[in-house]
Amino acid sequence: QKTEWAKLIHEKSFTADQSFVELAANIGTPNDLEGVINNGGEGIGLYRTEFLYMGRSQLPTEEEQFESYKSVLEGMSGKPVVVRTLDIGGDKKLPYLNLPEELNPFLGFRAIRLCLEQQDMFRTQLRALLRASSYGNLKIMFPMIATLEEFREGKSILEEEKQKLVSEGEKVSDHIEVGIMVEIPSTAVLADQFAKEVDFFSIGTNDLIQYTMAADRMNERVSYLYQPYNPSILRLIKMVIDAAHQEGKWAGMCGEMAGDEMAIPLLLGLGLDEFSMSATSILKARSQIRNLNKKEMEKLAADALKMKTADEVLRAVKKI
Ligand code: PEP
Ligand code: MG
Repeated sequence: QKTEWAKLIHEKSFTADQSFVELAANIGTPNDLEGVINNGGEGIGLYRTEFLYMGRSQLPTEEEQFESYKSVLEGMSGKPVVVRTLDIGGDKKLPYLNLPEELNPFLGFRAIRLCLEQQDMFRTQLRALLRASSYGNLKIMFPMIATLEEFREGKSILEEEKQKLVSEGEKVSDHIEVGIMVEIPSTAVLADQFAKEVDFFSIGTNDLIQYTMAADRMNERVSYLYQPYNPSILRLIKMVIDAAHQEGKWAGMCGEMAGDEMAIPLLLGLGLDEFSMSATSILKARSQIRNLNKKEMEKLAADALKMKTADEVLRAVKKI
């Protein structure tokens, strides 16, 4: 099976009825690039930049960040690279920021909320990204967006830094897409409004499931409620994909669900454009997708959206 998959390294990802999707990889550091190339990744769908900030005693400098972003962009030779701005907080802490303890860190001061308040840190990251943008195909993504104001504020800070750099004579790409992670239910519900302003969506199911089901993704005792196939989750995903397409934008997914072989048929049927997963899952997913028929998966997804329980959905997927 592994040798069968290996033949697909340089192949595109399309279904049996010739519908194309993009299979991208999630990475944490530039060292992960080799695995992406060796597994036929068509892009980076999520570069988690937290690791640049963790395991050290002070913030990384603009120069350090620039070098990392540049090496990933160059290493992908013009293929799309979605870099997520700092998503710290929740389970990921940075002791040197000296933030007060919170009762509910997953519902607290994290990610874009922190970045919009501690703007020096945010602006440094954005400058490093903008300077690196001319070395490849950069897309910038904000995490944990709950309201349109957050997106607008993040984007206007980005624009300000871009203007500054340009006036300093720096080379900055003119084609940087700016998108958001959809991992908070409010944003999925309001996706039609967001779609008018963002360039793309990437659905973060790891958090979207936990916030929709009110079940901590790390808590074993409620893990039975952590249900990717629950029709409520599928309906939210559908709202996001449909809203994107309505405005001519693309919708991807970078949560674990994107690489799950039981979810892939449903996601294809819902019209997902880009699947971002751990590099080692890509070839298996590509092989699976080549054997699926998009038209049939649309029927499966339409049926699943009307079902009542996650179990019922899973049984339907297992039948194909
Ligand atoms: C997600 O929430 O689905 C996601 C990809 O982000 P993280 O796992 O880093 O929270
Ligand atoms: Mg998340």
